[in-house]
Order: sequence, then C-alpha cells, then structure tokens
Amino acid sequence: MEVLDGATPFAAMTEYNRPTLTLPNSGQKVLLHSCCAPCSGEVMEAMTASGIDYSIFFYNPNIHPEREYEIRKNENIRFAEEHNIEFIDADYDKDNWFERVKGLENEPERGERCTVCFDMRFERTALYAYEHGFDVIVSSLGLSRWKDMNQINGCGERAAARYPGLVYWTYNWRKGGGSQRMIEISKREEFYQQEYCGCIYSLRDTNRHRRASGRPAVEIGVKFYGRDSSS
Ligand code: SF4
Repeated sequence: MEVLDGATPFAAMTEYNRPTLTLPNSGQKVLLHSCCAPCSGEVMEAMTASGIDYSIFFYNPNIHPEREYEIRKNENIRFAEEHNIEFIDADYDKDNWFERVKGLENEPERGERCTVCFDMRFERTALYAYEHGFDVIVSSLGLSRWKDMNQINGCGERAAARYPGLVYWTYNWRKGGGSQRMIEISKREEFYQQEYCGCIYSLRDTNRHRRASGRPAVEIGVKFYGRDSSS
C-alpha cells in the first residue's frame, strides 16, 4: 500500500457556490473511498469548499483489465496531486475479488454481485479508516446515476458498523447540482471517461448491449471528457 502525502489539504479549487457541508456525528476526518476521478472530483471539491479534512482511499480490485485499472487510478492520482490531497493507493487484490463474486457472474448490474463488490471495497476502507484515525468514511460511488444509492449506503453503513466510532456518510452527492458539476469538472480536467462500471462482467454486458444496438465494442484508454463533442 502506497501513501502519497498531501501538503495543503484545503487548497482553493472551486469556482462553485455550494452549501456548507457538515459531517455526521461531529466527525473530524474523512476517508473518501474513490472509484474514479470523474466521480471523486466533485466530492473532493465539495469537501474542500467546506474546509473538510480528508484523504483519498483507492481500493478497487473489481476493475479489469489491469490497463483500465491503472488508467483510472492514475487519473485519480493526477487530480489528488494537483490539489495536494493525500492519496492512499491500496492493494489490487483482484484474486480475492474474483473469489468473493464467484457464482454471481451473471447477476445484472445493481444485483447481488454489486452488493458483494461494494461490501468488499467498503470493508477495506473502514478497516483502514479505523486503523488510521479517520472517524467518517464516504464514497464517490453514489454519484453515478447508474448506481443504486440505497444499495451503496447499506453496504457503507454495514462496513462502518464493524468499528466503534466510525460512521458512513450517506450524503447524496447528486443533489444540489452535483451531477452537473461532476460533468463540468470532468470536462475541465479532461478526465478519462470509462465506458463500463469496472468488472469484466460489466464490460461483457456493456459490449453485449452495444452489439445489440449496432455500436462498436468498448475501446480502453481512448475516451476523455471534453475532447470530443459527444462527451
Ligand atoms: S458491475 Fe460494477 S459494482 Fe457491480 S460487481 Fe461489477 S464492478 Fe462491482
């Protein structure tokens, strides 16, 4: 596990007017589980604008193939470094991920495989938070309109409940213009634009859907926000 140190966590980096955020349980320090740069970009800027002390935890062994994983992670590191936010690069233990979702390969997105996937990622996030003095965990996963917020919140709360004094923040990052800002920030930063959720099963299903509608298969590493008229 690698930790990249952030020097000034409250760097000014927002041009938006946002409501001031308040942490649950009078929390002091947040560990943000980040799934990707586009979704965490908005969450990061919103927390910074409210003066919240946070670090980024990148633990996503669900992402395949490895090239896609590296691209998503490096985009996240680039943005964290740009704004001096601590970035914790956790293990890519994909074998454990495959082990946990065994038998759930044909579940649809938002089904049982996704619950197991969120559980695994949040369990590691909660453990790291507990061991390193964070009292709140949160995730950028809920920002995607393809995700089920209740499913994500349930997994997050279950993970946090394992440790005394730790709470999962169920804030709805989509509201108050969050979804729109996510797109605007992604275009401003020209973030890599992933075209499937992350696992090989979501890639398979996305490609099936694209084939059925006459579209070409997903090409890894080619699409970036703001670089063509369709994004
Ligand atoms: S579709 Fe997404 S959330 Fe569901 S198992 Fe795959 S990577 Fe995880």
